Amino acid sequence: MNHHTIPAELELKPLEPGVCSNGEWAAQGEELLSTDPTTSKELARVVGATPEDTLRVIQGAQSAFESWKKLPAPRRGEYVRLIGEELRRYKKPLGKLVSLECGKILSEGEGEVQEMIDIADFAVGLSRTIGGATLPSERPEHRMFEQWHPLGPVGVITAFNFPVAVWSWNALVAAICGDTVIWKPSEKTPLSAVAVQKICNKVLEPEGFSGVFNLCAGGRETGEQIAVDERLPLISATGSCRMGREVGTAVAARMGRSLLELGGNNAVIVLDDADLDLALRAVLFGSLGTAGQRCTTTRRVLAQKNVFGELSRKLADAYGSAVVGDPLDPQTLVGPLIDEEAVGTFLRAVATARDSGAEILSGGKAGEGPGSFVEPTLIRAERGTEIVQEETFAPILYLIEVDGLDEAISIQNSVSQGLSSAIFTDSLRSAERFLCATGSDCGIANVNIGTSGAEIGGAFGGEKETGGGREAGSDSWKAYMRRQTCTINYGTELPLAQGVRFDID
Ligand code: NAD
Repeated sequence: MNHHTIPAELELKPLEPGVCSNGEWAAQGEELLSTDPTTSKELARVVGATPEDTLRVIQGAQSAFESWKKLPAPRRGEYVRLIGEELRRYKKPLGKLVSLECGKILSEGEGEVQEMIDIADFAVGLSRTIGGATLPSERPEHRMFEQWHPLGPVGVITAFNFPVAVWSWNALVAAICGDTVIWKPSEKTPLSAVAVQKICNKVLEPEGFSGVFNLCAGGRETGEQIAVDERLPLISATGSCRMGREVGTAVAARMGRSLLELGGNNAVIVLDDADLDLALRAVLFGSLGTAGQRCTTTRRVLAQKNVFGELSRKLADAYGSAVVGDPLDPQTLVGPLIDEEAVGTFLRAVATARDSGAEILSGGKAGEGPGSFVEPTLIRAERGTEIVQEETFAPILYLIEVDGLDEAISIQNSVSQGLSSAIFTDSLRSAERFLCATGSDCGIANVNIGTSGAEIGGAFGGEKETGGGREAGSDSWKAYMRRQTCTINYGTELPLAQGVRFDID
């Protein structure tokens, strides 16, 4: 696989420091291996942070915050616009690096960079539109309003499966809000983070703002150190529910704020009156895209009796013919899993399902290497099958037959996660019942669209063990700012709220 080489335009070396504070690269910690999951070969090594390196990055981001927050928001937006322009230039090489390092197919790798560009454009717009409400005061000749101020340096901890886009959802919005950012990327994809940091430095260094975006690569301990640091008012963490529980607790213990984007166990409901072709295509992309390693991956199909058989057969056919292989090959639909550990988790989940009596309709095996490949796997399960309650980060799809909408919604909501959900139906009544307060309990609910592939314009995130955070579009920017309620008295009296009297003669 000769073409599995790091694009030269990114100017990456075989050994890169993974710590960048105020534009200065220096790291003394353990080396993190950047491995190509397709070939199982090393791409490069990235030197991680020591605890002292991490402290230095936090101090640097704190002092950079003092000047960045003074800049008018539209000026900050202008710098984010320049980063968006640079990302446009680097879309192909950076997209290829993402594919190489995390194994997603090239079109998804480039799509991830496109998502960064989209969020940059969105953040530029926000830099001229974020504002507060003016509210009626109960007191005469008083004006009450809200304003939003920059929050401080923000810690951003990210997962391997979106090695660059999730950083941009947080960092580019936080930056226009006036915050500086410390990025702790996944230890499994440190090289993509180094590449993005270099792009940011290229734009911001000549302008004297190189401390706005900082990198602090390392393992879990680096994330733990960032989470407990009181100088960081907000920690945005994306990853497993286990990680979110630990980070959330650590941040709450110091009265900080956390924004948690955690695991999902997303279902698609297919009713008898659904457009089956549409449902089929959406389930295939939702379950096989990114080799089943998206937080929004479709993990369960809850199909009504009359369509269950046909849908299962069509899915089994499509699963059997989906091309698994080199993510850089345009024919490939399913690349490798991130590493051998993920293959082990996949195999254990299949064995557990089989032991519990579930029927494997397609797939179930791992590839013979090199590379962390597994077969797309379709399993017929029952409502009570225990393994279905878990998020196995792999292309395993459970099919469950349901009587009707009520049972489907009840099964869908019975898992501990609450990220994304979808229904396929041509009935307006069923669609509305799915969307109403007693319907889906997820942060995302779609009709005749799958669970995966959200647009950046909406707020993204989920409920229950998914963590409750919201990122990207809509008013998610509020998480990166502090709200101040202000009241101005332009009269000559001092009336008290609630009619309280406190007269001093
Ligand atoms: P992970 O939890 O293993 O690691 C995520 C990040 O957290 C890494 O950078 C890791 O070093 C760090 N980390 C781990 N333990 C920590 C701790 N105790 N304190 C501080 N930092 C810690 O997750 P992963 O395997 O990289 O990613 C897969 C998971 O991420 C899946 O569960 C997926 O659903 C979830 N995810 C969620 C979203 C979302 O937006 N909801 C998006 C992408 C991925």
